[in-house]
Amino acid sequence: MDHSNINTIKDFKVADHFIRYVQIDTQSDASSATFPSTAKQLNLSKLLVEELLAIGVKDAQLDQNGYVYGTIPSNTNKQVPVICFCSHVDTSPDCSGKDVKPIIHTNYQGQDLVLPDDSSVVIRFTEHKDLAEQIGNDIITASGTTLLGADDKAGVAEIMEAARLLINNPQIKHGDIKILFTPDEEIGRGVDFVNLEHLGAQFAYTMDGEKAGTIEDETFSADAAKVTIHGVSVHPGFAKNKMQSAIKIAAKIVESLPTDRLSPESTSGKQGFVHPTNISGTVEKATIDFIVRDHATNNLQQHENELEALVKEITATYPGCTYTFETKEQYRNMKEVLDQYPQIMEIGLEAIERAGMKAEKRSIRGGTDGSRLSFMGLPCPNVFAGGHAFHGKMEWVSVQDMEKAVKTILHIAALWEEKSN
Ligand SMILES: [Zn+2]
Repeated sequence: MDHSNINTIKDFKVADHFIRYVQIDTQSDASSATFPSTAKQLNLSKLLVEELLAIGVKDAQLDQNGYVYGTIPSNTNKQVPVICFCSHVDTSPDCSGKDVKPIIHTNYQGQDLVLPDDSSVVIRFTEHKDLAEQIGNDIITASGTTLLGADDKAGVAEIMEAARLLINNPQIKHGDIKILFTPDEEIGRGVDFVNLEHLGAQFAYTMDGEKAGTIEDETFSADAAKVTIHGVSVHPGFAKNKMQSAIKIAAKIVESLPTDRLSPESTSGKQGFVHPTNISGTVEKATIDFIVRDHATNNLQQHENELEALVKEITATYPGCTYTFETKEQYRNMKEVLDQYPQIMEIGLEAIERAGMKAEKRSIRGGTDGSRLSFMGLPCPNVFAGGHAFHGKMEWVSVQDMEKAVKTILHIAALWEEKSN
């Protein structure tokens, strides 16, 4: 039973926050060696600290690595686990995030959304299945030349609005609530310098998922593999029966990868894959970078063995050629950690239901900040933020779904208090 009247709250400002944040370019850059990878991410992080201080989050601060931390102190006598809500400020390097012009399409009626700055960009009702559930809602899109940045400024706006509402509605009882905004999630460095000791949370929820009502406790487990081919380099004019080109051997390996299975193009659901992401080389030496993914961690070894066997078989036909095969752990399926603390998901699912949705547990074919946080000691599933069609010009989110996410945060905070002694 909800004694805190969360569902009667009407004065949501989440869309205002969102519109403000998406206009700040925060694209991250994998080729940068700095942290955060781009200084412009700090423009948003600094604003968030100012806004947190203004709503009464007294300890809000930006640290030297670009992380924003803040606390909403407990307002109950109960001993409640410290819960953190987390999202990332950066947007994907895959699509420009400069001069984003957000457009609100009010009272959506099922039409195709033609974006004005490039009329070839059309969000079609028939292609975006989740639009069917948005009739009557207010949908926010970009204008056709940039991404929107709902990933993950929707999550940022939702946490900011939930913080404001928690402070203004003391009838909602909660323990210490921590806020964390990370940089560089999109390039896989989101938690590289996070200070979990300073954060001081026991459990966390990233607000970085997709469709309203969903919560994810399962990600891929991920390794990287690097194949290096050492060929035999000879002057091409004198190469007959001598040259063994590492470039050609590398190409042959890529050509021989399975195509009807174990590839991103041929798999879905919980099926894993081996995927070349970069290839470079000379006659003398060539390297192929792979990512290896599977929901079951012990399948990774199997996929890597299969890849190495293929490399071995192909290079064996070139007697002067040698190879090295290296693998590196990237992240692990957070379910391995989350299953040890079932209450995190139970409360997440119950909060979604209390906020008026049908809760749906999903798994992600990817990773989140939460997959790494979980293994760093902060168990952390991923809650919907409401955005769709991430990382491209057709990205969209509805105001109503962001409001549902805000309510979900409030219910999570209240449920942890309610279930504590
Ligand atoms: Zn994201």
